[in-house]
Amino acid sequence: MSVERPGSDAPCPCGSGATYGSCCGPIHDGEPAPTAVRLMRSRFSAFALELAGHLLRTWHPDTRPPRVDFEPGFSWKRLQIVDTVKGGDSDDAGIVEFRAIYSGPDGRGLIHERSSFVRVDGWWLYIEGTVLDE
Ligand SMILES: [Zn+2]
Repeated sequence: MSVERPGSDAPCPCGSGATYGSCCGPIHDGEPAPTAVRLMRSRFSAFALELAGHLLRTWHPDTRPPRVDFEPGFSWKRLQIVDTVKGGDSDDAGIVEFRAIYSGPDGRGLIHERSSFVRVDGWWLYIEGTVLDE
């Protein structure tokens, strides 16, 4: 059911242009994300790779769902960062606005969302997002 993880020299699924081993891979393996954007990228890659554990681990306990299910027939193609507010390595909160491009049973689509993150004990966590119209 799950998607095979790329090798460390393969392009990162988040589309950053970096290798998986220097981008989202270490964060999936349990290293803290240095910034809110890096956590957002790792979460997008986790959707692409169907890493439910990473998504749950990086979700704030106040808003975390009991489980994450992946809809069959969807593949996540690309993440476009539209805007960021704070979320840097000396901040404890941040906003990331993004477009996530997917291919589904009805063709290509995208989700445009503005998401909020907080950092608790050095770990960036996703709180919630507002979906925006295109
Ligand atoms: Zn990445």
